[in-house]
Amino acid sequence: MVNETMYDYGSRASVIREIFEYGKKRAAEIGAENVFNFSIGNPSVPAPDTVTKALEKLLAEGDPVFLHGYTSAVGDPGTRKAIADSINRKYNAGVTPDRIYMTCGAAGALSSCLKAVITSPEDEIIAFTPFFPEYTVFTHANGGKLVQVESRDGDFQIDLEKLDKAMNPHVQALIVNSPNNPSGVIYTEETIRNLAAYLEKKQAEYGHEIYLISDEPYRELVYDGLKVPYVTNYYDNSMVCYSYSKALSLPGERIGFALVGPKMKDAGKVYAAICGAGRALGYVCAPSLFQFLVRDCVDEVSDISIYKRNRDLLNENLTAYGYTCVRPDGAFYLFMKSPEPDANAFCEKAKKHELLFVPCDGFGTPGYVRISYCVQTEQIERALPAFKALAEEYGLTK
Ligand code: PLP
Repeated sequence: MVNETMYDYGSRASVIREIFEYGKKRAAEIGAENVFNFSIGNPSVPAPDTVTKALEKLLAEGDPVFLHGYTSAVGDPGTRKAIADSINRKYNAGVTPDRIYMTCGAAGALSSCLKAVITSPEDEIIAFTPFFPEYTVFTHANGGKLVQVESRDGDFQIDLEKLDKAMNPHVQALIVNSPNNPSGVIYTEETIRNLAAYLEKKQAEYGHEIYLISDEPYRELVYDGLKVPYVTNYYDNSMVCYSYSKALSLPGERIGFALVGPKMKDAGKVYAAICGAGRALGYVCAPSLFQFLVRDCVDEVSDISIYKRNRDLLNENLTAYGYTCVRPDGAFYLFMKSPEPDANAFCEKAKKHELLFVPCDGFGTPGYVRISYCVQTEQIERALPAFKALAEEYGLTK
């Protein structure tokens, strides 16, 4: 006998993966240059040279036994200090190394934070649409229920009226993701302030904590000088799930952290529960070599000017062809309205033009698609005639 839920997760590939794999197969058939694969969020910009050099230095000069050994379960003390210092320099957040837990990326951090706060099968976790589909897996696998709350029409900020309709004493935590995958939307300071005030009120009403889990792998991928508010500065019962996957283009190295806000009620206990959850999930410790790398490169960021160029090229042209797009302020995804109600049918028609992107039904927003623009700019240039032909098929072009 096997656990049917786990069997289901393991045997059914995500829609994103399915389309990505289809793209690889198609590339083998007709040549990679003829397939426009916009399915996956793998950074197309390499890690900064400084990061590569720091890694080479570690390997050349570090003690291999230490470099590749286990660190303490919570992570290397020097790494956690470097991270806390960097956050405090940038956001004046007063975070401390003893509330940072090194993880295998934001996914490991999210899974640990959710496991730490889900206490019974009645417990609910709220996610705002559109949201990263793995939130459903992480919540269910850790014994809770995921509840979707629609974001505000048009700008995809948090809609407090809709949130209020979903709110009840079973809600343990809310997940926010800004810059957002797939919409590229950044929550404004006003949104975060209003959400914090609302949650304070609800905590007082229900007599228990409601945690805010901020999933932030795209924090550094922000355009036009916009700022992403640091949640622990606004709401005491906040946790941050951060990752170097996109910031340093190291997604396969599985490095990130979970952080408990310095003013959280019972912060020590919550932190210990997150570490316990990581232990129960079998993580042991985050990859040691990349913990040391992060310590040495804590303020580095990949060259995001390339993503900005891709964003502008895609958004401006697709809008000119008649598509309705949400102009992304951050991350590397273009969120576009499907020209027919069924986004799956639209994606199938796009495939005939060798255009591969994903329907957003699994993100909680049927009728939309996500186009990942973390690709070579030439791919976008080559794909534009296909996007135009597809728009013409739908009669969108003016
Ligand atoms: N959260 C969001 C919104 C993501 O888009 C991703 C990855 O694409 C993750 C979490 C997981 O990232 P990581 O590679 O850091 O585990």
